[in-house]
Amino acid sequence: MGAGKARSKLQRKWEIYPGKNKFYCNGRCVSSPDLGGFLACFFLIIVTGGLFFALDCPYLAVNVNPVIPVIGGLLWIFILGCLFQTTFIDPGIIPRATLHEALEIDRLYQLENQQLQETNGTSYQAPRFKEVQIKGRSFKLSYCTTCQIYRPPRASHCSRCNNCVERFDHHCPMVGNCIGKRNYRYFYLFILSTATMCCYIIGCNVTVIVLRSKEMDVGEAFKKSAGSLIQAVICLGSLASVGGLACYHSMLVCKEMTTNEDIKGTYNDRKFKEAVNPYSRGNCVLNCLAVLCGPRHPSLIDRRGFVDPTDETPTMVDTNGARGLPGSHHV
Ligand SMILES: [Zn+2]
Ligand SMILES: [Zn+2]
Repeated sequence: MGAGKARSKLQRKWEIYPGKNKFYCNGRCVSSPDLGGFLACFFLIIVTGGLFFALDCPYLAVNVNPVIPVIGGLLWIFILGCLFQTTFIDPGIIPRATLHEALEIDRLYQLENQQLQETNGTSYQAPRFKEVQIKGRSFKLSYCTTCQIYRPPRASHCSRCNNCVERFDHHCPMVGNCIGKRNYRYFYLFILSTATMCCYIIGCNVTVIVLRSKEMDVGEAFKKSAGSLIQAVICLGSLASVGGLACYHSMLVCKEMTTNEDIKGTYNDRKFKEAVNPYSRGNCVLNCLAVLCGPRHPSLIDRRGFVDPTDETPTMVDTNGARGLPGSHHV
């Protein structure tokens, strides 16, 4: 066995994975290519939390209740945990078709086209979709020309990550990942807990200023609470964006709907005839339980598996992450 073959045997699949996602810790973690938003978010949480624990908590623990820093600390750790889960787990990436699968789909498509051309006598491009029934409602599975698969219902191709994602909600530059089937609950809990933490810190800031103004002159109290004022400004700014987002996603969770479906109006009965949402469990409590407590779905991409040297797929992947198949179209 040659040295080259032995090396390729040790190569992990994430090292040659098509698409723009970045992998870390030998394929254990995955994110979108741009982590600028995540780093800004992380920095803001660390700075605001640091100011709160260093300036307000000691005063509040002595003058109000020692539980206040404990609640703040737990909430802060929970927010960071949710942020890391959202950013660094596989959001539900759908593996691209193997060379054999892609060729088979291409062969069937060309065969179908040939028959239609013979019947009509004209060149005809059949729409590349399949139709399926879910709870009596028909859904079109569109063909992804990059991943060369028929996308499952609710999946969509993220142009930033260049991959199809299951139950695609949206691509979030703030956390630096797609929001999909596997990380939606962490994203939702992240924005919900961040909005709660902002309210909590603002409440504590106001308490500190009010208590200090009873002890001393009001001007003096504000001067002494400059750190609290900075926190309050940061938290009010964050609350303006995260608070609205938390309310919007709470509505989506209650309806068991994705942002993508809401924007497209998939279940809007004024837009479509069969507008019933087949994924809704009937009431908002069951929908919330399903989103927050449902089983965690396994990752479909075998990131840490070893590349099979006899598999032709990796060598067929070009720099854009698409295979150069004859007759295939890329977007
Ligand atoms: Zn795709
Ligand atoms: Zn994405």
